[in-house]
Amino acid sequence: MADKPTIDTAGLPGRLRALPGLDRLQTAVSGIPAYLVGGAVRDLLLGQPHPDLDVVIEGDVAPVASALGGEAIEHERFQTAKVNLGELTVDLARARAETYAEPGALPEVSPATLQDDLSRRDFTINAMAVPLSGEPELIDPHGGADDLAEGQLRVLHEGSFRDDPTRALRAARYAARFGFELERGTNDLVRGADLRTVSDDRIDAELRRLAVESDPARALVLLREWGVLGMPTDAVPVAGEAIRLLAGPWEGVVDRGDALLAALGRGPAGEQARAAAAGLAEATPERPSQAVQAASGRPGVELVLARAMGAEWLDRYVSELRHVSLEIDGSDLMSEGVSEGPDIGKGLEAALSAKLDGEVSGRSEELKVALAVARGEIPED
Ligand code: ATP
Repeated sequence: MADKPTIDTAGLPGRLRALPGLDRLQTAVSGIPAYLVGGAVRDLLLGQPHPDLDVVIEGDVAPVASALGGEAIEHERFQTAKVNLGELTVDLARARAETYAEPGALPEVSPATLQDDLSRRDFTINAMAVPLSGEPELIDPHGGADDLAEGQLRVLHEGSFRDDPTRALRAARYAARFGFELERGTNDLVRGADLRTVSDDRIDAELRRLAVESDPARALVLLREWGVLGMPTDAVPVAGEAIRLLAGPWEGVVDRGDALLAALGRGPAGEQARAAAAGLAEATPERPSQAVQAASGRPGVELVLARAMGAEWLDRYVSELRHVSLEIDGSDLMSEGVSEGPDIGKGLEAALSAKLDGEVSGRSEELKVALAVARGEIPED
């Protein structure tokens, strides 16, 4: 297990004050019972930055949103608002209680107190609050600070994973991110989480969040150990390697979430991408032109999975070969008398192959090969 985190409760007010945009937020909520909640409080205690602030209001969200220059969205299920304060995004929500009509269903929500709102949360470390007016003392009814100091994740009640099995995915994400363990009872309960009661969209949304963590493979190992998420046998190394590439030399080739979902073979599209990638990974091109022939036109997700499955030659394809283009185009062939039609494409393709393999360089050599092939003087490869 990782070293236990150092929790600085006494330093909380100072860290809170140092948050950019806090002055505006405090002015907007003056006289209104409003609280910073969730991950922002957890990360303030850990002394780590947190990208956005969740604020719970015991009352109407609209006046706070408009005081901040934003607009409340009358959400079909509940009143929320998102406000951009320059460096900081603030999510406002009315304090709510939640009840689950059936396992895995979206909860029914109703206005409630802060205490109710904290009680509906996933883990104790995410169920703390700090008032935004008055003394900024920690409100921690479920012992979140102690669990944080112990480096453990604890659900708030026995039915937590039954109500919302996506919490198992969240548990794996937090355990991997912070190097935390699951508290003993939670560790037993998580193995009973039944993701079949949840829509694929909700599962995939949580998996996408996992994909942008620094070590998603660690989370996948936990999910496999708990037996909550079915996945192909090589999913952990393939996903881990794909994300490592996308966080480094392959950055931008494809969205990390798409790559993770495909590595896990999620849905028909994921299965199809995995199968295509496995086929590509079998290829052993000897010449650059063969590499381009095998890889070009394929979606990024197939490329990165094939590379993660062992096709190292794709590194050169992605960084260099796929960007190679000719100095000539079809109009150059037409001005030499080649008529419009498939011969032009054949000629250009042959010239590109020759260029990729280092057999020609420069415009006139490209044109020579292209014309020869287009006119049928030499066979295409
Ligand atoms: P991150 O988890 O990435 O650090 P965060 O803690 O802000 O960010 P969000 O997913 O944005 O997490 O959710 C905000 C808060 O809402 C959480 O801290 C938690 O208290 C609560 N929450 C989110 N999802 C659930 C869930 N499925 N069940 C119960 N509570 C949840």
